Order: sequence, then structure tokens, then C-alpha cells
Amino acid sequence: MAETVTNWAGNITFTAKELHRPHSLDALRSLVADSDRLRVLGSGHSFNEIAEPGVDGALVSLAGMPAEVDVDTAARTVRVGGGVRYAELARRVHEHGLALPNMASLPHISVAGSVATGTHGSGVRNGSLAAPVREVEIITADGSTVVIGQGDARFDGAVTSLGALGVVTALTLDLEPDFEVEQHVFTELPLAGLDFETVAATAYSVSLFTDWREPGFRQVWLKRRTDQPLPDFPWAAPAAEKMHPVPGMSAVNCTEQFGVAGPWHERLPHFRAEFTPSSGAELQSEYLLPRPYALDMLHALDAIRTTVAPVLQTCEVRTVAADTQWLSPAYGRDTVAVHFTWIEDLEAVLPVVRRVEEALDGLDARPHWGKVFAEAPQVVRERYPRLGDFRALAGALDPSGKFANAFVRDILAD
Ligand SMILES: Cc1cc2nc3c(=O)[nH]c(=O)nc-3n(C[C@H](O)[C@H](O)[C@H](O)COP(=O)(O)OP(=O)(O)OC[C@H]3O[C@@H](n4cnc5c(N)ncnc54)[C@H](O)[C@@H]3O)c2cc1C
Repeated sequence: MAETVTNWAGNITFTAKELHRPHSLDALRSLVADSDRLRVLGSGHSFNEIAEPGVDGALVSLAGMPAEVDVDTAARTVRVGGGVRYAELARRVHEHGLALPNMASLPHISVAGSVATGTHGSGVRNGSLAAPVREVEIITADGSTVVIGQGDARFDGAVTSLGALGVVTALTLDLEPDFEVEQHVFTELPLAGLDFETVAATAYSVSLFTDWREPGFRQVWLKRRTDQPLPDFPWAAPAAEKMHPVPGMSAVNCTEQFGVAGPWHERLPHFRAEFTPSSGAELQSEYLLPRPYALDMLHALDAIRTTVAPVLQTCEVRTVAADTQWLSPAYGRDTVAVHFTWIEDLEAVLPVVRRVEEALDGLDARPHWGKVFAEAPQVVRERYPRLGDFRALAGALDPSGKFANAFVRDILAD
């Protein structure tokens, strides 16, 4: 490529021969039909090579396509274009007095790229960001459009699909009435005696943060819907000042805390749309496990915290409700997710990632599709009982493997 294109974190430089930026659906259709190998680049917030097409392939960005956000207030749905990010979607949905059920920690990510990797927020009853999707429109290998909606036998493979089925040009999402959220932060929650299920269910969305320098959690973030009861949280003390999840960082780029009520989209993410999210200089990993294993997982990590802490900025524990997407890390099981924001030194981080994976061995941990992991593909494959169904769907929609890359081929290998 003439220009250097990297992911958001800067740890992946794409080797693709070209980056296309079509401005119309017709141009996109022709590009797809005429390409041998193609991957879509969303907002580039993944930390691994999931979007990398390889030197023989091309990338396509939908950022130049019309940014469609079409709210149907009567049907309570929104049709959103394949390049649109959550910040823009949320703003427009909110203007219509409606809401999405949940958001990730940041609103900067594209909707299509997020649901493709099973991106999630938190909440014992909140599914991943793919949960509200009711229909997906995909340009498949020959340039024609396939529409797959709920009720179609292919739907459970079509949303969290790793970009392997084609170019998603639009998604239709179910909406709900607007709601407000207030955020309460507590500090120093002990691990000893933790009743994880009870703590995780105290509010609409709950996140526990630790740097593993000491046992237990440095921060607990509760996001309470104002139409739900005020939680009693006797296990930790309210924070005295506004906090950033990474200890020592300024909280200026974080969403409002101290119980100040505000619209859902300005409280459910941890980070404000107009600022850099998280720390900016970082790598990330995340593992999603059956929720009953939460305490086993936390004690297994506590046992290796002196290995983890030196390369860690922060670790976040969240919950995700079970879903039915075949490749969703929350497929078929209520889930606990443990996330690591590492320092940006991959060489130092990778051995620790392997150590974490060893510690979680036996706990059926599924790595986040968009983050750094070292687990062997055959191990990952075994953790997805419906992988064979997805493989068949990808084979039917993309028989020549136009949208496959090394990452996808490894995961789908028979
Ligand atoms: C600071 C930061 C915070 C994060 N917080 C969270 C979090 O709270 N929860 C969480 O679960 N994850 C989180 N992530 C991870 C992130 O949500 C995922 O990596 C997600 O995939 C990013 O979306 P993207 O558009 O940037 O995707 P990209 O990285 O651009 O692409 C991801 C995949 O989606 C495919 N894709 C993208 N658009 C399309 C399309 N239109 N059609 C077909 N395929 C497409 C790509 O080909 C690729 O395979 C975070 C990442 C960062 C950098």
C-alpha cells in the first residue's frame, strides 16, 4: 500500500495491497465482485489481525459511504449503515426519544465491526451489542445483496460473523424507550468473601476494576437506570473523587460520575465520545467464561497477580447475558468477561497472556475475537459448539473464500 494504515492501537500495520474507500453502494458492489480477496476495515479498534487481508488482499473502508441512520419511531427500530459508529448512532437514536439497551466502554467503534466480534458492555441481563440486531444486509462474494433477518435459519451465524460472510452494508436494530442512567463509583472491594453474583446484579451494568497489585478491586462502577431501584452497596466505600479505570490517569475523558443522571449513551460507555478512550497507549486481551466460574477465575488470576501486574494498566470484570449467535463468545451461556488493558509492549505482554490462558485452563474461556490472544486455533474451535454450522454458512455465502483471511481460515479449519 502506498499509505501506511494501522489499527487504532498502532500494533498492527496492514499489509494489504490497497485500501479502497468507495462512496456509493454501486461502487462497493463492483469492488466486491471484482476482488479476489477483501476484508472490511471498520473503525480499526481490534488489537489483532482479524481485519488483515494479507499481501494478496485488499481492505475496504465504509467510512466514505453515506452514514445512514434511519430511525423508525413507530416500529422502534433503526437501520444503520455499515460504516457508522456508535457515537453518531446513539446521538440520532436519542434525538428520537429512543435508546439502545447497552454500549461498550467507548462509543468510537463502528456498529458493524463491533457486532462482528461479539463486542459487549456489562449487565447480568444485557446481551452483547449484537443482541438488538434484527436484520443484517450483506454484499456477498458475487456483489449481490443478501438480507438475513431474525427467523431465518442463517440468522444465528450472520451477526457475529468475524467479517467472513461479506460486507455488511446495513443493520436493523431494535430500540427501546429512552432512559437515564447515573453512575456511582466505589473503591476497594475485597476479593475475600466476594459474592460475585450478588455484586454483579446490583445495578443495570456493573464493572469491577483491579490492577492486581493487591488482591481485590480498586474500583467498582455501577451504572443504575433511574427507573430501577437505587442499589445498596455495603461492600465498598463511595469514591471521593472522579476516577479513571487506569489508576493515576486523569478522569477528564470519563463519563459523568457521582450519581449525576444523564442520557443512556452518555453514561453506559466509560469514555466520552469527544476524548481518546481508555489510555491510548495500550494492548488489550479479554476472555469470556461461564458465569458460575467467576470466583474460580478471579482466584486463578489472584494466584498469578505478581506476574500480571507489571504489564497491566487495568483489568475489568463484566457480565454478559447468554445469546444464540454461533460465534458469540457468550453463545449459550450467561457469561463473566475478564478484560486486560496491557502496556503497549507486545513482547513483554505475550508471555503474560500465555500465563493467563494457562491459569484459565479448564474454565472454558473464549478469547475476545478482537483482542490479543495466544490460544491455539484448535483449542478455540472446541469452545464453539456451533462452529460447524458457521463454517457451512460461510461456505455457502462465500464459496471461494474471498472474505477469509489467515485469522478466519485458522478458526474455521476443519
Ligand atoms: C479503547 C478500546 C476499548 C474497547 N472496549 C471494548 C468493550 O468495552 N467491549 C468489547 O467487547 N470490546 C471492546 N473493544 C474491542 C472492540 O470493540 C472490537 O475490537 C470491535 O471489533 C471494534 O470495532 P471496529 O469497527 O473497530 O472493528 P475492526 O477492528 O475495524 O474490525 C473488526 C472485524 O469486523 C469486521 N468488520 C468491520 N466492519 C465490517 C463490515 N461493515 N462488514 C463486514 N465486516 C466488518 C472486520 O473485517 C474485522 O474482521 C475495545 C477496543 C478499544 C480500542
